[in-house]
Amino acid sequence: MQTISPTTPDVPQVSESVEVHDPAVLAHARALLDACATPADMQETILQAVARNEAWRGRQCINLLAPEAPTTPTVRGLLSSEVGTRAAEGHVGSVNRWFAGTKYIDEIESLCIELLKQVFKTRYADHRLVASMIGNMVVYASMAQPGDTIMTIAQPFGGHSSNRQNGPAGVRGLNIVDIPFDPDELTVDLDRFRTLATQVRPKIVTLGLSMTLFPYPVREMSEIVGEWGGDIFFDGAHQLGLIAGGQFQDPLAEGAAVLTGSAGKTFSGPQSGVIVWNEERLTRPLTTAIFPVMAATHQVNRVAALAASAVDMLAFGQAYMAQIVRNAQALADALQRRGIPMLGSHKGYTRTHQAIADVRQFGGGLEVAHRLAQANIITNKNLIPSDQPSDWDRPGGLRMGTIEVTRLGMREREMEHIADFIAQVLVDRVEPAAIVSDVTGFREPFQTLYYCVEQGLPPHS
Ligand SMILES: *Cc1c(COP(=O)(O)O)cnc(C)c1O
Repeated sequence: MQTISPTTPDVPQVSESVEVHDPAVLAHARALLDACATPADMQETILQAVARNEAWRGRQCINLLAPEAPTTPTVRGLLSSEVGTRAAEGHVGSVNRWFAGTKYIDEIESLCIELLKQVFKTRYADHRLVASMIGNMVVYASMAQPGDTIMTIAQPFGGHSSNRQNGPAGVRGLNIVDIPFDPDELTVDLDRFRTLATQVRPKIVTLGLSMTLFPYPVREMSEIVGEWGGDIFFDGAHQLGLIAGGQFQDPLAEGAAVLTGSAGKTFSGPQSGVIVWNEERLTRPLTTAIFPVMAATHQVNRVAALAASAVDMLAFGQAYMAQIVRNAQALADALQRRGIPMLGSHKGYTRTHQAIADVRQFGGGLEVAHRLAQANIITNKNLIPSDQPSDWDRPGGLRMGTIEVTRLGMREREMEHIADFIAQVLVDRVEPAAIVSDVTGFREPFQTLYYCVEQGLPPHS
């Protein structure tokens, strides 16, 4: 097992065989707590760890993690608001709640619901998912029974655990059949899908991926599964903001029955989940799986923050998401020109916020991501189609996303600079430590977030 900090000899070691977390890192935390003389010291230790992260990741790094988005001052302020200490189980309305005293909470929650309906142009939306993961469980709990067959996409093509055997779909006892995926075109192989789906007649077909570059044939697939009453479920965790901003396909308009997504990825709100749908037949099953099954105290401070970020999406989503996609295309092209092979290069690289590199020749995704992090460039290792699922810890790919750099006001020109830094570490084999001050200096002038009510659009230059 890899250690990232020295173990303290006088602290008893937890057996590695029962501890899922890195024992050396836990031991380091115990040593920090043991060194505290008072409870105030202990809290100070926590505050310092948070401050170290803010100084480094928040101000000095080029953050290219595809699932991360920086939140605005309004959203951050709402996340620590008083309403976050209040309890409000149930559906909106005094009779539907267990607790009295919720008249303003009803107002906050219904503002959020109505804003989400406006953003996604849907008849229904729910605001109570503390994670998008839970939205996926809501779908599998309400639209399928244990033993039913569903079809989802395997991890090397970008599939997410929530739709696979080791996540909510598997826990629900569903029989999972792989959707045939074309490893070169990086989308569903429609002919093979038609043949296989007609044989296994899945109740649900799940689209939407964690590694996601191109749209899916939603309309064609929904026509196929419609023959036996199956539904398309679009897990738009990553694409939620792109869909809101009209920069990706609109899954519900193309025939999907339900859309879930992460509020904290491209949507750039508080980390949590969103679920929207149009059909009346789904309203009772979905909302009764949300409450009382998957949500009780659903964090009204987070709901208020989600509502505020929905306003930013309504006002600036189109411009923000269009620039995110342009930046991802520019970054991918700049990396390819510097000798780093990029997925989807024959199709314009990407139609999302992501750019995916094949870094097998540079040492693989794990090594490359850690080398780049030493240079203050934050990315993640990723499975790519040439990998096996069992390669998850040492895969061949590197995933990059342009959400944060875009919100900081960067454009195509800055993507060339970022590609230069990455190529220095990968292609020229420069020591990361040798460029870290250049990277920090590059990031320094970009500290203001745009595409929000506070700042509007970034200045033209
Ligand atoms: C990130 C992700 C999720 C989980 O979303 P959370 O909001 O982190 O719970 C689900 N599905 C896909 C495809 C994802 O990429």
